[in-house]
Amino acid sequence: MKHLAHELIVRPGKRVKLSAFNPGSTHGVSKAAGTERLAKNLERLPLLQYLLYAEARRSLLVVLQGIDAGGKDGTIGHVMSGLNPQGVTVTSFKVPEGAEKRHDYLWRVHNAVPEWGKIGIFNRSHYEDVLVVRVHNLVPKPVWSRRYQQINDFERMLSDNGVRIVKFLLYISKAEQAKRFKLRLQDKSKNWKFSDADLKEREYWRQYIDAYEEALRKCSTEWAPWYVIPANHKWFRNLAVSDILVDELENMRLKYPKPAEDLSKIRIK
Ligand code: AMP
Ligand code: MG
Repeated sequence: MKHLAHELIVRPGKRVKLSAFNPGSTHGVSKAAGTERLAKNLERLPLLQYLLYAEARRSLLVVLQGIDAGGKDGTIGHVMSGLNPQGVTVTSFKVPEGAEKRHDYLWRVHNAVPEWGKIGIFNRSHYEDVLVVRVHNLVPKPVWSRRYQQINDFERMLSDNGVRIVKFLLYISKAEQAKRFKLRLQDKSKNWKFSDADLKEREYWRQYIDAYEEALRKCSTEWAPWYVIPANHKWFRNLAVSDILVDELENMRLKYPKPAEDLSKIRIK
């Protein structure tokens, strides 16, 4: 089967045209084969998590960004379902409030970085500060335009200190978003998810795409790569994210720590 991580990674410095990406693509994987591999990945992930926890010297930070209704919550629910909750933290970043507003934009983010041995999931992230903030001119252009470099420097520092960062853009088409919004209106169990604000954001689709493209081009680095996930098909989205997480954790070459003393000399009476 295809090596999805290779196909979906954004190579550093590469100009990304999201319009050239097909969000309905399944990269030639059939649903049956994909579902089978997803199940295998979901079994593998807790084993890798156990190693990360045992090693306790590094951590994994998973950044989830996406267009509204792109499936951030669904991805967390499905792909992370097999992990041991003790080793996972999920942080959802909302409109900054209180102390968050009285600090630099990275302050709250740094504070939520997972400790050694743990997996941290960001539901939205510091990228909002070059996405929604840019689209709605929440700060002037000279301020947000300097943030790409600041973000790269920040992520580099984390990486140098043992945090592996993996960033996902869950990319759905405008038509798929309409379908999901309609379902939120029709399905009583989904009504609570419907938001007027999301509908307004839809009018800024083009501006968001431009902002995403720039973030992908400027901030996909060796130490913190971006992956663009075709997310119209939920099963494929889950498969791709789980595949990449398995890959990334395996590339960390995690090892059990050496025991502090020679265990062969220990006798239990
Ligand atoms: P949700 O993820 O649906 O709960 O919505 C959270 C909202 O917070 C979204 O509309 C985000 O765009 C917004 N948000 C998150 N971070 C920021 C930020 N740094 N500045 C402004 N809005 C933000
Ligand atoms: Mg929302």
